[in-house]
Order: sequence, then structure tokens, then C-alpha cells
Amino acid sequence: MFDWAEIEKIDAHMHILPDEVQRANPDADNEFQYAEAGLFSVLMRQFNIKSAVIMPFNDPRLMSMEFNIEAVHSNLFDLKQKSAGKFFAFADVDPDNSVEESCRFLIDAVEKYHLDGLKLHPQNSGLHIDSLYNSELLKTAEVLKLPVAIHSYPNTADSPDAVRKVVNLIDKFPQVTFIVSHMGAFQWGELLDCPAYVDISAILPDYVRKCGIEECRRMLHSFGADRLIFASDFPCNRVLSPKDIFTNYFEILNFMDFSENEAHQIAVANISSILKI
Ligand SMILES: [Zn+2]
Repeated sequence: MFDWAEIEKIDAHMHILPDEVQRANPDADNEFQYAEAGLFSVLMRQFNIKSAVIMPFNDPRLMSMEFNIEAVHSNLFDLKQKSAGKFFAFADVDPDNSVEESCRFLIDAVEKYHLDGLKLHPQNSGLHIDSLYNSELLKTAEVLKLPVAIHSYPNTADSPDAVRKVVNLIDKFPQVTFIVSHMGAFQWGELLDCPAYVDISAILPDYVRKCGIEECRRMLHSFGADRLIFASDFPCNRVLSPKDIFTNYFEILNFMDFSENEAHQIAVANISSILKI
């Protein structure tokens, strides 16, 4: 029997704020006070997390003090540089920019700042995931061969990140590798026939709380180890405090009855093949 807390892992979706943002908000009394590179490095050592993917928010005010996308990408590049290869980072989108500008910044994100994918957050950007804007952006991501992570934790069938809309976009781009973050939450069933990977960030404790551990196991196995990706969304969680996220995740995962090979695929191999590392 192995323990998820001890096996080697990559955290495929987490949040760290740049130092300049942390310095500008010394009294922040929310989860983002934990979104700090030094603290995350301690957790990585404690839980055998060999690397991690920093996700931006589609809100440049959270990731820079200049509040523009170029500054966000530069900050993500700096975080990667300082981490000695431990951090990867996905490119951001500022919905206030025209789609032409966003495509140009995405090319820069790869060529100038060596970022590793594109993050789309329909809730924060207010752009419905199957909008024309996102389709145009995806054409650029496709040319750049960038993996695309989509936030999907919808409340209703009309939410900007509703799974039906996510699937509409994914169907248009069969050449692009997609990760649906948070598994589409409680609309997960509509993702079963979709070719995307799903990351288990944020949602896992919510599944257990609302559906029970047996049903959670059934859900995860209905996707299978080929499509699941380990990710925490640290320090964000609707149910848990930041301090409890990892221990709670590993407790749940230890109940999921994955074989050691399947666990390796979920914890390391799937995201490694997406990032080509
Ligand atoms: Zn997140």
C-alpha cells in the first residue's frame, strides 16, 4: 500500500502571487497571503511535489502592480527563473484587451517569456468560454502548440464556464490539448465523452462532502487514470483552509483505490507529457 502524501507528484494547478504583489499587500487577510513561493517550496518538500504549474487569473490586478498583461507575463517568467526549474506557468489573458492584442501577447508569452500553456478563466474574464474571442485566441494557441487549461466550476447551465460551453470550444480544436480544471464541478458527467484531461483541483473535497466518498471514487474511475491530473488549486478552496488542502487531498486520494501505476499516471505522467518534460 502506498501513501499519496509520499509518492512523487507534480501539482498541475496552483497559485503563487509575485513578490511585488505580496509586498504591496502586507496586511492581506485572505487565502492569498499563503500564495507565496517560499511557503509553497516548504510544502513541496514536505509532500514530495517535485514541480508545480502556476496558474494566472485572467485578472492582471492579481498578478502585477502595473495591472497589465505584459507585467503579468514578466512576473511569471521571474517566478519560473527563481525556482530552478521547479515551477512552470501558463499565460494570462486580460479581457480588457482586444482579441488581436491578446493573441499578440500570447505569442510574446511563449517567445519572450517562455510560458508553458494558456489559462482561460471565464468566471473572472466574463468571457463565455465558447465566445468568438476565445475561439480566436485558441487559433493562436493551436499554432503555438500550447496546452490550454480552462477553469470550469459552473453553478448553472448558463454560467460562462458551463461544461456544455466548454465542450463546444474543445470540439472546435481537435489538435489542441485541453485540461478542464476542477473537472467541470457538478456538471462533470457532460465531460465523460470529451477528449480533454481533467484536473482534480479545488473540487475533490466538495465531491466528498456533497456526494460521499464512494460516489467520488466512482466519478474519478469513470474518467480513469488516462485523463485525471493531480492538482491542488492551493491556496484556494471553497471547503478547506489553505493549511488543510494537501493533507485532505491525500486522505481522499488514499481512499480512491488507484493502483501505484495509475497513481503515477495521475500524479506525474499525464502532466509531464502535456508539458513535454
Ligand atoms: Zn485556480
